[in-house]
Amino acid sequence: MHGTRILEEADRLMTVCNSCRYCEGLCAVFPAMEMRRAFSDGDLNYLANLCHSCGACYTDCQFSPPHEFNVNVPKTLAMARAESWAAYAWPRALSGLFARNGVAISIICALSVAAFLFGFAAFTDPRVLTGVHTGAGAFYALMPHSAMAALFSAAFLYAIVALTMSARAFWRDIGEPIGVSAGVSLWQATRDAGRLRYLDGGGVGCFNEDERPTDRRKIYHHLTFYGFLLCFAATSVATLYHYLLAREAPYAWWDLPVVLGTLGGVGLVIGPAGLLAERSKRDSALIDRARTGMDVAFILMLMLTGLTGLALLLLRDTAAMGALLALHLGVVFALFITLPYGKFVHGLYRYLALVRYAAERRMTERME
Ligand code: SF4
Ligand code: SF4
Repeated sequence: MHGTRILEEADRLMTVCNSCRYCEGLCAVFPAMEMRRAFSDGDLNYLANLCHSCGACYTDCQFSPPHEFNVNVPKTLAMARAESWAAYAWPRALSGLFARNGVAISIICALSVAAFLFGFAAFTDPRVLTGVHTGAGAFYALMPHSAMAALFSAAFLYAIVALTMSARAFWRDIGEPIGVSAGVSLWQATRDAGRLRYLDGGGVGCFNEDERPTDRRKIYHHLTFYGFLLCFAATSVATLYHYLLAREAPYAWWDLPVVLGTLGGVGLVIGPAGLLAERSKRDSALIDRARTGMDVAFILMLMLTGLTGLALLLLRDTAAMGALLALHLGVVFALFITLPYGKFVHGLYRYLALVRYAAERRMTERME
């Protein structure tokens, strides 16, 4: 007996697949499945988070609908995956945010932008919002740097604590202590995650409605992921500039934080736009429709982060700077505080699943 109906269905499918084994070369899910004869809830959550939803095993399967076995591994694992994120959420009281996630994130984002607009006007002279501010420290005419740093540090710290607690619950449920090969497994998982090794349907690409595999989903995912990392690096370098070199933002076009932020911003616009386009072409049989809001909300939040950041860079010397700063900070603040309760967590859980897979593989190889 399993905790949910979806886990019951995942168990049924994994039992069928374990007898068939036709797809064992497609990704990490099937070799990991073959290491087991029975599946606990934790095992199924592990396999679900190992799946990259490429769709290859659905297209290749001789038992997919209309066959009576009704085997749809990508969709069932996508549903189990989303359920697992809510189940491991910390604190548990906020796990409900995973349901109707698109609505929740939209409301939080709107409130956050409104709070920055109101805050800028209320805590300084309301005219600063439409004024022209230039030169070093221009942003801090609207909000003191100390207040900005304290607010975003608190939001970031909260996100880190919540994600760590969720990851701990997931790891306890799926794993065991890694032991002496921990470093090797972490490195292997980092390499596999960094190049999205299993998002390629066994080497041909992701499958869409027309059943013609393509690498576009992987390319847009790379642009999004590395765009996000570059933006994070830009913020980190700017923080070092501020505290170590006593240099205040905004910086010149050629300064490192701006170069990193611009490249990251472009990635965060093109990548999410491409992911949305690719999503619209996917075979509807593969998609968990109940999670459309969560998927789209996260992609849009990343795109808005890139777009508002680039708009702020372009128009920072004009009267639009105040409103754009409120918009950008509002979006980024909402993104930070909702990181533990949205699609962002797929990266964390998938990474941990890859670590466990690498450890299991090494253990199996040693025993052979
Ligand atoms: S998805 Fe279908 S073809 Fe692939 S292993 Fe499972 S039952 Fe076999
Ligand atoms: S959808 Fe792709 S990644 Fe997921 S189980 Fe099937 S082949 Fe593996």
